[in-house]
Order: sequence, then C-alpha cells, then structure tokens
Amino acid sequence: MQSTRSNDSVSDTAAVLQGIAPDGGLFVDPDVSSRPFDVAGCLQLPYIGMAEQIFSHLLPGFRGKAHDIASVYPGKFSSEKITPLRQVGDGYALELYHGPTSAFKDVALSVLPLFITAAKEIEGIRKQISILTATSGDTGKAALEGFHDVPGTDITVFFPDDGVSPMQKAQMVTQEGSNVRVCAVRGNFDDCQRGVKEAFACFANTAQEDSDRLLSSANSINIGRLVPQVVYYFSAYAQLLELKRIRFGDPVDFVVPTGNFGDILAGYLACEMGLPVGRLICASNANNVLTDFISTGVYNRCRPFLKTSSPSMDILVSSNLERMLFYASQGDTALVSSLMKSLNTEGTYTLSGEPLKRIQAIFSAGCCSEADTSETIAKLWHEYHWLSDTHTAVGFSVLDQYRADPDFTGDPCIVLSTASPFKFPATVLSAIGGTPSADEFETAFLLSEKTGIPVPQNIADLRKKPVLHTDLIDKSEVVSYALS
Ligand SMILES: *Cc1c(COP(=O)(O)O)cnc(C)c1O
Repeated sequence: MQSTRSNDSVSDTAAVLQGIAPDGGLFVDPDVSSRPFDVAGCLQLPYIGMAEQIFSHLLPGFRGKAHDIASVYPGKFSSEKITPLRQVGDGYALELYHGPTSAFKDVALSVLPLFITAAKEIEGIRKQISILTATSGDTGKAALEGFHDVPGTDITVFFPDDGVSPMQKAQMVTQEGSNVRVCAVRGNFDDCQRGVKEAFACFANTAQEDSDRLLSSANSINIGRLVPQVVYYFSAYAQLLELKRIRFGDPVDFVVPTGNFGDILAGYLACEMGLPVGRLICASNANNVLTDFISTGVYNRCRPFLKTSSPSMDILVSSNLERMLFYASQGDTALVSSLMKSLNTEGTYTLSGEPLKRIQAIFSAGCCSEADTSETIAKLWHEYHWLSDTHTAVGFSVLDQYRADPDFTGDPCIVLSTASPFKFPATVLSAIGGTPSADEFETAFLLSEKTGIPVPQNIADLRKKPVLHTDLIDKSEVVSYALS
C-alpha cells in the first residue's frame, strides 16, 4: 500500500490500522490490475469463498486470516446469498441491506473490526484502537454495531444533527456498549468529515508517540472498508451467470447511488481485477458535484449543500474520488497532491487530458431530483412490486436516463440497492400513496401494512430502546471532542 500523495509504502495491516496516511492521502494498492487473479474460479464459489479469495488478493498481509474473517457473514446476514440479486423490470437490484442495521455498510462494517483486531495481532500492537467516524447516516450505526464491546477498541461517531433521517438517528442514539460515544454536530456531513480528518492530523502531529492509543477510521477512507465491498460485484455477476442471463466474459453495467465515492470505487477495483464490467454509472441526488465532475473534469464544491430525502448521499466532498484520481493519473502523486490542495484552499480543481479520458472511458454519471426520486419509488412499487428506499431510487432514476443515452450498450444493468426502505419510511410511504404518521415507527408499520413486507427486526426493536446519547456540539468542537 502507498499513499495517494507520496510514494512511501506501508504494510496492508498498517494501512488498515492507520485509516489515513500521515500526509493526509488515502492508502491505495498501486498494482491492483497487474497481479493475476483467477476471476472465473472465484465466480464459482459461494459468497464466503469469494470473499476469502478477494480479501487475500487485495490485502495479502491478512492472508492467513481471510477465511475466518469472511466466515462471519452467514451469522450476520438474513439472506442465504448474503447480497441477493432481484430482477426489477428490465434491470436488477442487488440487495445489499440484509445485514444487522439494514444498510449496505454492514457488508464492510461486519468484518472491519476483525481486520483491525487481526492487524493489531499481526503488527504486535498492544495499544487501544480508537475508531473515529463521521457519518451521513448509515456508517455510524453499522460501525457502532460492528465495534461495540470489541475488546481493545473504542468508537466515537459524529453525525450532522439534522442531516440524518429520524430512523437513522434513533438507531445511533440508542446504541448500547461500554466503549461507544455518539455525538450530534451542529453542521452538515462535510463538517463532520473535515473535523475527523483534522483530528487525525492533529493526533499524528502532536500526541501519537506518547499516547496509549492509536486512531483509526471506520469511514470509507479506510481501505479495509472498501475491500469487502468488492466482493458483491463478483457475487452479482455470479448470480447473473447462475440465472443464465449472461455468459462468462459478457460485460455487465452497475449503477451505484454515490456519496463518498467508496461503493463505486469498489466496483472499479473489481473491474481492475478482471471482472467483466461494462460501465460504472455514478448516480447522485441533487448534490450533483460528481455528475458535473465526470462530465466536465471540473470538481467544484462551492455550491449550496442541499438536504434531500437520500441523506446518506448529501455530500459535496467525496473523499474516495482521490483514489480514482491516483489510478486515472497512473499514480501521479504530485498531481493528486496539487489537486487536493486546490480543493482545500479554493474549493475546486480541474482534471483534464488523459486522466479525465480514462475516467470517462468507464464511468458515466447522472443525477436525480427529489420529485424524480419519489416518482421512481412509486413506479418500482406499482409496476414491479419491488419496494425501493430513497437512495436506491436515485440509482433507478439515473438508470432510466442512462438507457436513453448514446453511451448505453444494452448490457444487463444492476442497480446497487443500498438501504432498506424501512429506514426512510415517511418518504417511501408518501411516494406510494400512503399517509405517514408524525411518529416514525408508526409510519414504518403503516408502510409494512400497505406493502405486506415486514419491518426488519432491528428497526422494530428500536422503539423500545432508551436514548443513551444526547451530546450535541458545534462543528468547531469536533477535534477536541474526538481527542478527549
Ligand atoms: C453511504 C451510502 C451511500 C453512498 O455510498 P458511498 O460509498 O459513500 O458512495 C448510498 N446509499 C446509502 C443508503 C448509504 O448509506
């Protein structure tokens, strides 16, 4: 592994433990596409076997542990396929939300604590690992669920006070565990994420040597978050093979509801490993900074931060795009550093020439308004009887636009379905013609009554749980809270 901003390398285990490189860059594997990988063999395995091979390939430093780590999925996910594929109209939905918190982030955060514990053991580190996490809604709960009461670790989660859905908030503030802190921030997700990054920098510069702890991250800036997400791209492809909808080698397109660019970057890594991916379609809500970037090369975060019904995608600074800049520029760390500096100081940068062409050769992009999100939820339910959450609906709406685009090749298209509709019950129920109640739980049960789909148990159980976390701070206080 090396940083996106310099050529110094570190071991895989150190990269997972540190989360972010000391120079502020993100850890990347510079030769992911040159090491041979047996794609055909991998596709024949069940999910755990695929995960084991992919973990061993992308994080060879953990090789002896990959099997044990991958084996936790069946106990945590309610679907036998872990991430089942469903046909929805002419496309497919890859349901990633059958884990313990009903969010796709469970796929990575169910195993990240095991990677961290294994890394500590391999590196012979005795220090306590303190996880710092900023969340736009779903990472927070999934990380709390993964790390609570894991020996040798503690976790602090920052969320934007009115930037998450009521159900997402209820999930976090009721979290039990002796090693957890949950703190609301007066600000948006970008403020939380910036505070966490500053806390890392501050810790690295001042306290690290003498401290009896190490900071790490459960955000998708941590490479240990991305690697588990590569697996379901292979699983999706294998399920299309099993259904005989494709033959090995046929390209498949993936539409990815995108915020921090982590999930779609995992798709890029799958493609670099040799999975036959046609195009990766980046789907944004009204915060369409990535749509503009992919079509023009201009990244400009200086625009209003809009609150939408898909809050986990309300992001203007997409951290993982930095990794894509590294790959697109063929490892030009000086270029990445200067673009990131410009983003920090000017709020904007421009990518041009070959690197931009390389991005456009595989990525397409589209965005979706609030009205389109609701209409899409209604259409998917009334025409295909498939209930979509707000984020997935952004993906399906962008898929419709993509089908009308000259880029469209006619390949099978899979939309990554990133959350259970019961996490956003008010918007979903209104979209399909119901009337939400003022009480979020009541609304979830109304949605269940109307659709005949049961409320996931973890969400139904929240209603009885007491609120345990009430801290609320200004965005300027994130660093001191994090390091206290
Ligand atoms: C986090 C999240 C996304 C965006 O994923 P990124 O990896 O940040 O691009 C989309 N949908 C839901 C429901 C999420 O929680």
